[in-house]
Amino acid sequence: MWLLPRTHFPSSSSSSSSGSLCRALAIFSFLLFAVSLFASPTAASRGDRLPEFKDCVQGCKERNCLSEKTPLPLHLRLLLWNCPSECDYACQRSVTASRAANGQSTEQFHGKWPFKRLWGIQEPFSVLFSILNGYVHYAGLKSLKRELPRSYPLYPYYRLFSIFGMFCWFWSTVFHMRDFVFTERMDYFAAGANVLYGLYLAPIRIFRLYRSTYARALRIWGIVCIASYTAHAYFLLGIRWDYTYNMAANVVVGSITNTLWTYWSIRHYTRLKSFWAAWPGLIVMWLIMAMSLELLDFPPLAGALDAHSLWHAATILPGMWWYKYVATLTLPPSFSYSFPSFIP
Ligand SMILES: [Zn+2]
Repeated sequence: MWLLPRTHFPSSSSSSSSGSLCRALAIFSFLLFAVSLFASPTAASRGDRLPEFKDCVQGCKERNCLSEKTPLPLHLRLLLWNCPSECDYACQRSVTASRAANGQSTEQFHGKWPFKRLWGIQEPFSVLFSILNGYVHYAGLKSLKRELPRSYPLYPYYRLFSIFGMFCWFWSTVFHMRDFVFTERMDYFAAGANVLYGLYLAPIRIFRLYRSTYARALRIWGIVCIASYTAHAYFLLGIRWDYTYNMAANVVVGSITNTLWTYWSIRHYTRLKSFWAAWPGLIVMWLIMAMSLELLDFPPLAGALDAHSLWHAATILPGMWWYKYVATLTLPPSFSYSFPSFIP
């Protein structure tokens, strides 16, 4: 039985190319892990500065974490919960419950809303939606293999798009399961790589940089993207971990990508009058509207469903739509495998 100071104890239980890319990602993950061991913990919030929270955590640790440690269930230990973090979680729940009972506001703790965990998973809905997003890329990769001929020049680029997508949502799943410095960094860097790869891909598809006449431009574009990502990672890890800068960088890169696809859609829809030509522009509009959910930073409904998880939920359908666009409509049934000019 987990012991909390009685005043705060809640009534309910508180309870190929891809091969080298994978190696590169693994090395990057390891280096990041090494750096993050020395990184500072998450910034404080109003909730963890509340005297009742501090008293609760201190009392809980004295009761459970000193000489006679209260054992934790196996499923919590498997998700790396320990005595102090269990006290922190239990006190967040109890303080939040007693504040709600007194008609007081819900406060954030350590930069996050107090979520009700499920089987030790910190943010169950964000985990569920991250898994579904990752599955969209996995299923998308399979559909690419099924639908596109290997000789199609964009095939390797779309394949990498799926791999970056799966990498991104894997780390999003891990981060929302357990929030540590390392898992947070991996989530941010994987998301950043995914967003930047989207920008890398857009002009290759839109301006057909994959053609041999543009080989030099394609090389330069690749170097620009890799250098930008390296500089981005160096700034965050070597100079300053800055949430505002990270968000701004992603928004800028994402906005350029969105502008390019909107341009493509307008241009081709005007010319072809085919609805499918508007798809990338509509997907972009959907993503922009979904992203605005992030601005609604409200406390989690029922302690579980917050704006961030809804944003993750909102990217599932456009992901499926994108693969439908790539795998079906990029190549009409009459596709002759010789890349004729009718492919816009
Ligand atoms: Zn997330």
